[in-house]
Amino acid sequence: MKDWRTSCSRLSKRLRGRGKLTESDVSDALREVRMALLEADVNFKVAKDFIARVKERAVGQEVMASLTPAQHVIKIVYEELTQLMGGTQSRITISSRPPTVVMLVGLQGAGKTTTAGKLAHLLKKQNKRPLLVAADVYRPAAIKQLQVLGEKLGLPVFTLGDKESPVRIAQKAIEHALSHARDIVIIDTAGRLHINEQLMDELKAIKNTVKPHEILLVVDAMTGQDAVTVAEAFNEQLGIDGVILTKLDGDARGGAALSVRAVTGRPIKYVGMGEKLDALEPFYPDRMASRILG
Ligand code: GDP
Repeated sequence: MKDWRTSCSRLSKRLRGRGKLTESDVSDALREVRMALLEADVNFKVAKDFIARVKERAVGQEVMASLTPAQHVIKIVYEELTQLMGGTQSRITISSRPPTVVMLVGLQGAGKTTTAGKLAHLLKKQNKRPLLVAADVYRPAAIKQLQVLGEKLGLPVFTLGDKESPVRIAQKAIEHALSHARDIVIIDTAGRLHINEQLMDELKAIKNTVKPHEILLVVDAMTGQDAVTVAEAFNEQLGIDGVILTKLDGDARGGAALSVRAVTGRPIKYVGMGEKLDALEPFYPDRMASRILG
């Protein structure tokens, strides 16, 4: 039977707030969060680890007076998601000794060539003098595609055609940049439909020769789960400095942003929001957290 002491302690708890988050408060709220993460195409293991971390942090926390326990858990989820995807500034690092060399890598169709143009456009608006480099000598029309972008932007495109090796093209491009006062070199490399040894060997050879300041992996956000495998492979075999997530103007809920960041530990630096040349935006972790939670 309840006596006055129980009522009193219950009342004082209510006055102080709503008491501490219990294991069941947290589990109930996180069940829905887990569903939202999986619907947003977050990798299963990434989602599981994330939920475990939030649970550890949440259980036992004093519930804020203005919130229900479920709302308090969601608040923690937002904070953790934002923190997990944030940290580093979403910009490329400019070298103190020009030219800054940026190498774009990724699978075919991810949006590398388009992103090369968009990035050049963004940097031009910041008063930089980018040089675009056509080092994808395998995909028919990749060189032409970059030249068309260069023309639209009023920016030079360095090419030696498709008969020279990408390593030599990259090397010569840097010499060209030095002698023509171009301060940023953006190398559009070849992709393949799948990751294979030949692709990685070629990228490693370019990396070892030109020592890029930034290797940015271009990933299609629509590929969801596959994005994790791709990011893991490129990071392990080549080492990447950041990620550009493309096609976020589509239906993708953006789970790839969380997965890719979690498995590589590398920042998402920009996001592609359309096919046009001005459709490249900085990455905002808080906005992405809202998008992922739906
Ligand atoms: P690459 O093979 O990696 O060089 O890929 P491309 O740059 O040729 O891009 C493949 C396709 O994706 C093209 O049709 C691009 O217009 C399109 N694309 C690239 N980035 C975006 C983006 O952010 N949003 C949308 N909707 N389409 C994009």
